[in-house]
Amino acid sequence: MRKKIVAGNWKMNKNLQEGITLAQEVEKMASGVSGEVELIIAPPFIHLTEVKKLLGRVKLGAQNCASEASGAFTGEVSAAMLASAGVQYVIIGHSERRSYYGETNSIINKKVRLALENNLHPIFCCGEVLSEREKGAHFDVVRKQVEEGLFTLSSEEFSKVIIAYEPVWAIGTGVNATPAQAQEMHQYIRSLIAGKYGETAANNTSILYGGSCKPSNAGELFANPDVDGGLIGGASLKADDFIGIAKAF
Ligand code: PEP
Repeated sequence: MRKKIVAGNWKMNKNLQEGITLAQEVEKMASGVSGEVELIIAPPFIHLTEVKKLLGRVKLGAQNCASEASGAFTGEVSAAMLASAGVQYVIIGHSERRSYYGETNSIINKKVRLALENNLHPIFCCGEVLSEREKGAHFDVVRKQVEEGLFTLSSEEFSKVIIAYEPVWAIGTGVNATPAQAQEMHQYIRSLIAGKYGETAANNTSILYGGSCKPSNAGELFANPDVDGGLIGGASLKADDFIGIAKAF
């Protein structure tokens, strides 16, 4: 049975003290959220060890990991380092990483593998840009991302993966996908999984929606049969909004 999940991607926001305050607020308010909903926050790397000490109900994620295991890669943080700091989830392939840092499907696939080797759950992001949707290429784009990013995994490995469909045109724009657009793509992604790993695996995979999700639209998005929660950017920076989204199921 797949999990309902609401995950917060703080991106490059909040200094350490502000991050500690936000994590404390989220953890406190999390007691009001149904136990069926997994709550995850993904602060910047530098916050992780301090934030870890404050969490119980809420799980800890990172926003990225290196595509190499260790060694001379200045400025990088490995999956093994994240695991050693008590991180449980790692966002991989976010559109900002793809577009600003040149992450290809093959780099993303290496990160996914390293995350899994270190017992982290990858939150694998995929999604099309506006021009791709406008020319009707969105299904092909997402299929290629999912196939090249994930479909080299064994069934056992794949069972640890969470997918986040994040149409790039909806990220940080205030324009969310309609519930019908989200459902249509989530159903398509689930059909791809069924084709590769079988119906049971497809039914057990959590597929999150991301892109301008907020308390006022989360309910209608999460009401769709193939939408299992959200990956939340801007609205995860306020505990009230983040928890409001988690209560929208
Ligand atoms: C994101 O960047 O993962 C995201 C969904 O951002 P926002 O909620 O701000 O659109």
